[in-house]
Amino acid sequence: MGARIYFDHNATTPVRPEIAAALPGWLAISGNPSSVHTEGRAARKLVEDARQAVGALVGVGARQVIFCASGTEANHLALHGLPAQCRLISSVEHDSLRIWSDGPSVPVGVDGLVDLAGLADLLAAQPAPALVSIMLANNETGILQPIPAIAAIVHAAGGWLHCDAVQAPGRVPVDMTALGADLLSLSAHKLGGLKGAAALILRSGLELQPVLRGGGQESSRRAGTEAVVPIAAFGLAATLARTHLNDEAMTVAALRDRLEAGLPPWVRVVGAGIARLPNTSCLLVPGHTAETLVIALDLAGVAVSAGSACSSGKVRRSPVLSAMGFDDALAGAAIRVSLGPGNSIDEVDRFLAILTRLVAQAA
Ligand code: PLP
Repeated sequence: MGARIYFDHNATTPVRPEIAAALPGWLAISGNPSSVHTEGRAARKLVEDARQAVGALVGVGARQVIFCASGTEANHLALHGLPAQCRLISSVEHDSLRIWSDGPSVPVGVDGLVDLAGLADLLAAQPAPALVSIMLANNETGILQPIPAIAAIVHAAGGWLHCDAVQAPGRVPVDMTALGADLLSLSAHKLGGLKGAAALILRSGLELQPVLRGGGQESSRRAGTEAVVPIAAFGLAATLARTHLNDEAMTVAALRDRLEAGLPPWVRVVGAGIARLPNTSCLLVPGHTAETLVIALDLAGVAVSAGSACSSGKVRRSPVLSAMGFDDALAGAAIRVSLGPGNSIDEVDRFLAILTRLVAQAA
């Protein structure tokens, strides 16, 4: 067996080498960013430089960035910080959002895209103001939602739009103003940073109530000592993702296209023909369960996820694919291949050979 192949970048990305190289310098800064002494001020500078860089990633000022610990926490804060009368969440959102829906789900079509007329009807029927949460890029399929059009509908109804953009930076441009979102979630470990740092970005002028209270950090919007090193790494990851966006997106798109072109004919790609992340292929392998395929691929040296894997690691029927109208058998037969700029043509070709062999063996 050759070297292992990591095709699970939507679960988490490898740490960028520039970050690994900078770690010793950051670790040497031991102060608490809230302390006024020299050590504290050095830590504060790391946090504030990172805030600037993360804001620049999505085209906003540093003041609009609230650091927190995970994309899940950013989503939680977004859904609980505003005086909304109802929360409307699409049926293809990440689990961290879907559990908070307190109204009917915002419907999606068979193409995985939000049904815009259905959203407008829902908003008209629900108490205002509503908080609507729609992701930019789906973590299972990579399908991109038309966020500017969605924002226009939500704002016309007097609501707020939260956009979970966790999977997007470094893969597609993310400009908060162009998207028209009021709140936007990001997570560092999906763009080459460390686990333990994330951000909720606020539209300029929007304020929200903290969920974590009891400290004045993050301008009293999220209490708790900042995770200085993961935040510093987030800042560098944001700068690198912004600087290398075009090159890296082209690299992964070429690999993804080669992979999809070389698939055995009975394997279907979910969302083929729809605007998608350039790195993501959700593959339906009829007659196989995702769970056994993921294990067989792992034993053959390839890391992918079941399209339907949840955070406990268990594989279940994918709610995303079910919402798109796939039957139970197909919704349980999806594997997610998610590439990164460090992958190679050789890895794609080896993966195709392994998948073809495994599927033929099992037939
Ligand atoms: N939102 C989306 C779309 C995700 O894919 C994920 C993680 O997979 C999250 C939110 C949660 O992010 P985190 O792992 O940082 O909590």
